[in-house]
Amino acid sequence: MMGPSHAACGAAAWVALTGTYTVQLADVSLPVGLGVMPVGNAGVITGSLICAGAALLPDLDHPGGTVARSLPPLSGWIAKATSTLSGGHRRATHSLVGLVLVILLAVLSQRASVPVGDALRWHSFSWPGTGGEAGAVPDAAASLPGQVWPLAAVLSVLLIACAVKVLAFVPDRLAHANWVVGILLGAFVATHPPEDPRWFVVAVGLGCAVHMLGDLLTTQGIHLLWPLRIPLPLPSTFYRRNAFVRLPVLGNAGSAREIAVIVPVTLYALAGLCCAAISWAGLTVSV
Ligand SMILES: [Zn+2]
Repeated sequence: MMGPSHAACGAAAWVALTGTYTVQLADVSLPVGLGVMPVGNAGVITGSLICAGAALLPDLDHPGGTVARSLPPLSGWIAKATSTLSGGHRRATHSLVGLVLVILLAVLSQRASVPVGDALRWHSFSWPGTGGEAGAVPDAAASLPGQVWPLAAVLSVLLIACAVKVLAFVPDRLAHANWVVGILLGAFVATHPPEDPRWFVVAVGLGCAVHMLGDLLTTQGIHLLWPLRIPLPLPSTFYRRNAFVRLPVLGNAGSAREIAVIVPVTLYALAGLCCAAISWAGLTVSV
């Protein structure tokens, strides 16, 4: 699957998980979002940004890829190291082991906080793990020591930069500006986090899982059980070279079939984000 398709799927998956909206078109009510994990209107928007970025993360195993060029030079260094460690494209980072490691990294980054002095405190600041309480209850925040979450901050800026680079088609010569965009949007996410303390881990894990599913539906498939290579009595349509699992209904990456699927997925994500923005602004729109 192509980068923009992965990012759209990540945003759509977040909308599906967290959206609680209904679009009324004449006599027909269309639900937007399953409301499995309600996170508030702002949280639908900020979480989708992180989930869209996380849906690009597995392709950091491709040093020449778009994602590797999203936040130079940091993303390039990470991509080179990831490619070496993962044994090549669509292997470790597209496997169940890789998914577990990314989720552990998200958990760790949510927990690794650094206390800061009073001078650096920002009472409305809230990061994953705080569940938004600091922003919602300033008095409670005032009684806590100031903290920052450096790993979560770096990871978020990287994820957002990936999403911006891919969705906004930022050319390489402007990629350094992604630092500014990533940090500004990162601050926006930090001050308007989804209203569920699990949100960061769920958004990162969901984004990666959606990426794996998207690639599994293409001709190349993914090394799901990396590092194992097991001979299984399966037809080569579904399992090749004792490693790559696939259900190639979309054909090659970037095919017409992929685009035919991605158009409604993108419209769904946009519908959810529009509903969230309208509700957040306190407006009601009837068509
Ligand atoms: Zn991939």
